[in-house]
Amino acid sequence: MMVSEKISSEQAINLEEKYGAHNYHPLPVVLSKGEGVYVWDVDGKKYYDFLSAYSAVNQGHCHPKIINALQDQASTLTLTSRAFYNDVLGKYEEYVTNYFGFDKVLPMNTGAEAVETAIKLCRKYAYEKKGIPENEAEIIVCENNFHGRTTTIISFSNDEDARKNFGPFTEGFIKIEYDNLIALEDAFKSSNTIAGFLVEPIQGEAGVYVPSEGYLAKAKALCEKYDVLFIADEVQTGVARTGRLLATCGNCSCPDKNCSGTPEVKPDILILGKALSGGVYPVSAVFANNEIMEVIKPGQHGSTFGGNPLACAVAIAALHVVKDEALAQNADRLGNLFRSELQKFIETNDLIKLVRGKGLLNAIVINDTEDSSTAWDLCLKLRDNGLLAKPTHGNIIRFAPPLVMNEEQLLDCVSIIKKTISEF
Ligand SMILES: *Cc1c(COP(=O)(O)O)cnc(C)c1O
Repeated sequence: MMVSEKISSEQAINLEEKYGAHNYHPLPVVLSKGEGVYVWDVDGKKYYDFLSAYSAVNQGHCHPKIINALQDQASTLTLTSRAFYNDVLGKYEEYVTNYFGFDKVLPMNTGAEAVETAIKLCRKYAYEKKGIPENEAEIIVCENNFHGRTTTIISFSNDEDARKNFGPFTEGFIKIEYDNLIALEDAFKSSNTIAGFLVEPIQGEAGVYVPSEGYLAKAKALCEKYDVLFIADEVQTGVARTGRLLATCGNCSCPDKNCSGTPEVKPDILILGKALSGGVYPVSAVFANNEIMEVIKPGQHGSTFGGNPLACAVAIAALHVVKDEALAQNADRLGNLFRSELQKFIETNDLIKLVRGKGLLNAIVINDTEDSSTAWDLCLKLRDNGLLAKPTHGNIIRFAPPLVMNEEQLLDCVSIIKKTISEF
């Protein structure tokens, strides 16, 4: 079958069912086109995208500036591997390190690979600079974390579906409660082989859990006190999603078009992916200063596609869009509007328990048991009414539209959500 051949929703779903592994359970809608905040299904029905491919499409679908960069570079040079230099990687590395305020970047492709890279970097630094005895380094992680799907990463997940029958697991991780500074300090005190603290500034997959005010800054201060690397996984929260360039920016003077990420909390290691490419190409990155990054030497880590010229050209364009269109500022403003509108509404409605989030990373919690299908059923109704969202863990629906949305569109979405919930 030719890719250009038109097929029905039913045919598309059947093909995936028959020929693809069943490792996802998609909402039944078959998309064939995207532009800005909208996607269209194969029958031409238009929807607001309220997932943005898990916050990868912050810049909106098929942003012309990013697609142009992709097309130009794709017809010039796509992949050299790192066996040779290419003339885009260095420019990208200069641009992106200035943009996020680090000495160096290590380019990878997917979020999980970047998390793996950060773990390896943290361990190597612990052995070579801190003198932790080999194979004894431990990394503290949080309960209900989501950092990706590799064997090492699922080793420290507590999602049964993600783990069951995938063992044996990788050792060297200590799990503590999220948003609990006492647990963090206790863990630091209990061992002198702790190398790092790996944390999501907001737990996205878990259901958009926003930690208490000041948690990240205090956790970072504890890391400094105990000489432990603070590793921020901003794969989902980064690149303007939470109304700041990075969620670790906290309440700095952002949102500012020219903000280079002046941090409230400056991670020792920063992990980005998803929207780093505007969802156009898999691009991820690990950032650190020289003192840390210099422990990795030729031959010790790599990826065939990491740092390829196509990825670099796409990422530069995607990051330009974030500043040119003041997406952090927009996410901040529209996020406040979204939560205040929904807050007013849920006070008059008992199906929804609460709304929470930051910038345009938000969720509603449904007033029902965790294993009920209410969230799923509500997402089907939202789909019928022209808005696509998906439940996360438990009875929680994440709302994360592209950040190029305008106020009129956002208010339109708010009325679709209110109407759908009211009719439910
Ligand atoms: C999505 C995500 C990852 C994994 O990224 P992939 O590109 O799917 O491997 C890692 N960490 C966080 C916080 C994420 O949201």
